[in-house]
Amino acid sequence: MQYISSQIDKDEERILVILDETETRRKAVKTITDRIDRDKGALVAEKEGLLARQREAEDALNVLGDEKLRILPHLSNEIRRLYDRILKAKGDSGAANIVADICQGCYSRVPPQTAHEVRRNNEIMTCEACGRILVYFEDKA
Ligand SMILES: [Zn+2]
Repeated sequence: MQYISSQIDKDEERILVILDETETRRKAVKTITDRIDRDKGALVAEKEGLLARQREAEDALNVLGDEKLRILPHLSNEIRRLYDRILKAKGDSGAANIVADICQGCYSRVPPQTAHEVRRNNEIMTCEACGRILVYFEDKA
């Protein structure tokens, strides 16, 4: 009888430990679920923001594409061929802006005299490092 009573006490104790453990784990699951919901909300908001920026960038790209089509016929054949040849070789752009004497196509420093000539905008100058036509304009970005 003593043994049975002692066995029941041990079983009850084990059940209490299991119940306690169950409650602890239930709280942990709740904490994780809450965190997932919070993070999910933040990620959805971030995705919306990025999609809006993507749409803006696409709109800006379309405007530039239209502008390019409008401007290209005004270039001389010689410059247009040069531009097309460089564009084909580089794959991304045939011309590059200079910012603080740095070619924005390859990030090489342009000699000061060349940078000065580019800013004067009197003749076609190319980057010694990458060959892109160097242009100068105020970067509004
Ligand atoms: Zn360059």
